[in-house]
Amino acid sequence: MRPSLLNPLFAPITTLAGIGPKLAPFYERLAGGRVVDLLWHLPSGVIDRRFAPKLAEAPAGKVATITVQIEAHFPSGSPKRPYRVRCSDETGFAHLVFFHGREDWLRRQLPEGEWRVISGVVEHFNDGIQITHPDHIVPVAEREQVMNIEPVYPLTGGLTARMVAKTIRAAVDQAPQMPEWQDAAWFARNAWPSWHQALDSLHRPQSEQAVIEDSPARRRLAFDELLANQLALMMVRAHMRKLKGRPIAVSTHLRPQVLAALPFTLTAAQTRSLAEIDADMAEPLRMLRLLQGDVGSGKTVVALLAMLNAVEAGAQAALMAPTEILARQHMETIAPLVEGAGLRVALLTGRDKGKARDAILADLAAGHIHIIIGTHALFQEDVAYADLAFAVIDEQHRFGVHQRLELASKGQAVDMLVMTATPIPRTLLLTSYGDMDASRLDEKPPGRQPVSTRALPLSRMDEVVDGIGRAVKAGARVYWVCPLVEDSETSDLAAAEERHRHLSQVFGDGIGLVHGKMKGPAKDKVMADFAAGQLSVLVATTVIEVGVNVPEATIMVIEHAERFGLAQLHQLRGRVGRGSGASSCLLLYGAPLSENAKARLEIMRATEDGFVIAEEDLRLRGGGEILGTRQSGLPEFKLADLALHGDLLAAARDDAALILARDPELTSERGQALRVLLYLFERDAAVHTLRSG
Ligand code: ADP
Ligand code: MG
Repeated sequence: MRPSLLNPLFAPITTLAGIGPKLAPFYERLAGGRVVDLLWHLPSGVIDRRFAPKLAEAPAGKVATITVQIEAHFPSGSPKRPYRVRCSDETGFAHLVFFHGREDWLRRQLPEGEWRVISGVVEHFNDGIQITHPDHIVPVAEREQVMNIEPVYPLTGGLTARMVAKTIRAAVDQAPQMPEWQDAAWFARNAWPSWHQALDSLHRPQSEQAVIEDSPARRRLAFDELLANQLALMMVRAHMRKLKGRPIAVSTHLRPQVLAALPFTLTAAQTRSLAEIDADMAEPLRMLRLLQGDVGSGKTVVALLAMLNAVEAGAQAALMAPTEILARQHMETIAPLVEGAGLRVALLTGRDKGKARDAILADLAAGHIHIIIGTHALFQEDVAYADLAFAVIDEQHRFGVHQRLELASKGQAVDMLVMTATPIPRTLLLTSYGDMDASRLDEKPPGRQPVSTRALPLSRMDEVVDGIGRAVKAGARVYWVCPLVEDSETSDLAAAEERHRHLSQVFGDGIGLVHGKMKGPAKDKVMADFAAGQLSVLVATTVIEVGVNVPEATIMVIEHAERFGLAQLHQLRGRVGRGSGASSCLLLYGAPLSENAKARLEIMRATEDGFVIAEEDLRLRGGGEILGTRQSGLPEFKLADLALHGDLLAAARDDAALILARDPELTSERGQALRVLLYLFERDAAVHTLRSG
């Protein structure tokens, strides 16, 4: 259970003074619905309001806090002209300017004859001094509250800077003192503030330096978050390692038969990865290994050869893919290879219904099926296995952890191999998988030719269409990817349907269309026609992103390539260059290109190495917003920015390892504090792996 100490932080924001049901939704949109979310909403800068000149000395363009007497109101009389209020001190006068100012409100705020403290940017206008829409107007008694260094927060509609600052201050005041969970020596060496002091110095900054990204307060909080992340990952791993597995020996009978049936020999990377998997399976522990490899690097064969270990041991293996198309393709690859060895493979997807499905389920439960390939259908409630010992999850980021676990729960001590074609930079691998075992297919099968990649503006569309026309006449097969399915009136995204119509007009028959809203059978038919060569151009939305294999396709056209992230472009390009023919990729972009988009397209032209592209992606996007993060299921940090705090990640990892070596059950005084830390960052699941969790 979460320590009660943390309750005020996980309380809804409506427990804060001034936030009722009306304002709560705005804060929820801005930061989140709980007090802790507001604490993590850090300022992006500060405004120094301590400068308090007399009017005669107030320089233009600077934020100043002035104390003036209100002389007279000059309502505008016309919506185009501003409302003006004249005020003065002993050195001169100034005007406060309000566009669309409401007279009753302004007269209440600025009563004639009284003194007020005004803070805002001073402007010099027609030889006069003015402040347009002052940030603060307060009575003289509140002068000290304004003359401060004020944090500036990212805002959202419906909330003013002042409201947000005030509410967050209230949240900080509500925050309890925490026991110190950091290692005493490390903490002292960094001269970091305590947790509460860190929040205080960020939300009540005493200087501009206090809020910058490498301020001690920021680094402390970032380290807290990274430590919670690393510790939780290691605890879950340690827990997994304690679970009993079943030792499964390397197949000596089936594997040679399948290897002999392969029309190629394994690459060194495949052989190495397979040996790593074999070693895991042979242990009496439960395997959880990640197999990373670019599109086309040959993950399926590795998975199949590993599955044979389980089958030869008398058990069953399952291969789960995120889409029907992919599952079908795996079936087509695997079935011919294993049938010679006398194995039975079956396909089970959401489309199988009625008697056919019943028959598969019966055979699966009776153990007549050795390898089952499918989609989410593989772990539905009424699916039972005779003895599932090994599960492979393809494109694992498309599945949630609980789906992985549901499949595993269909067997006993199931060994898991999860595969991904999204190359993950090392730092991200560490933050999302911790020290999870990973194998890399960093070598393409031989005979593949490089894909020549060019970037062209969309204005050269006619030329591109002509060129594609010539290639198609010569027998080429072409993917043409568009960003959206239907043209919405408000968007200028190239619609796949529109492009399909256009290309059909130019080329006549042989142009197919596949998009995410199509039903399974229709989708499969189009893909099959393209694979069989009945279609020469396949216009597609990104549904083809994952896995699809048509080695004869040699041209990839991507419209509005600037709208795709690097990881996605890389995935798309990976559809071509899979056969022996020379391939090309055309990146069509809408001009003008942003600097970042330019850099992305340039990287695409420069390299085909997915791991290099992933590192560049991380660099270009910075930590917070790595595209592919959301898609690939990697965690997003609230306080740490891997581009800035990368050094802290390594330190957090070492610290976490040391903690678990010394105090694996987190029972020491520091251990107890670390439990609080884990709950604070909502790693409850990790705490539950402890005996007294
Ligand atoms: P991935 O799933 O990693 O994208 P696949 O497993 O679909 O890649 O393999 C892509 C293609 O490469 C398939 O047609 C497969 O038969 C072929 N292939 C796999 N390994 C080799 C190899 N060692 N030599 C030649 N071709 C291979
Ligand atoms: Mg694959």
